[in-house]
Amino acid sequence: MEPSEVFKIFKETKALLTGHFELRSGLHSDQYFQCALVLQYPRIAEQLCAAVVEKMRMALGAKLQVQGVISPALGGLPVGHGIGRALNVRAFFAEKVEGRLALRRAFEVKPDEHLVVAEDVITRGGRVQEVMDIVTARGGVVEAVCVLVDRSGGKSGLQVPVFSLVQMEPATWPPAECPLCRQGSPAVHPGS
Ligand SMILES: [Zn+2]
Repeated sequence: MEPSEVFKIFKETKALLTGHFELRSGLHSDQYFQCALVLQYPRIAEQLCAAVVEKMRMALGAKLQVQGVISPALGGLPVGHGIGRALNVRAFFAEKVEGRLALRRAFEVKPDEHLVVAEDVITRGGRVQEVMDIVTARGGVVEAVCVLVDRSGGKSGLQVPVFSLVQMEPATWPPAECPLCRQGSPAVHPGS
């Protein structure tokens, strides 16, 4: 699936907006992306996840052996299920317990089990790294990371191959330097 096709789907589902936005960080941007809005359509989510798995298969080929998919809750859940479906393996998740991701509900990582970590969007990679640590602490092996959108600009520093459908590095500015503010348009808070 070509990036242009992915961006078209993001725009059609209003997951990707263009305009003038104030982000939660306080920075202004001409782009806003909310992955959950595209993932609310199961058939589209399935298609996108299958496309990431296809990329991973092309790259790793016969080297790829995966027994499961693990995701950080909450955003990673629909992607984890989609990747699990495409690979025909189980998909489970780690969730926040007192501020840290942990395995609950009797979910298990078996020693020497090979897993893929799945997430919707990767920015600095902190949550994905936490999940990787959970896997390796139990003797599991992280084969790769699969995400729909990579916003890390290649700076996530993760020590395994990262596969994504698109790279997205939107321009952001402190309000005082925002060219859109200078043009006189008001910044809006998306999702509110
Ligand atoms: Zn602005």
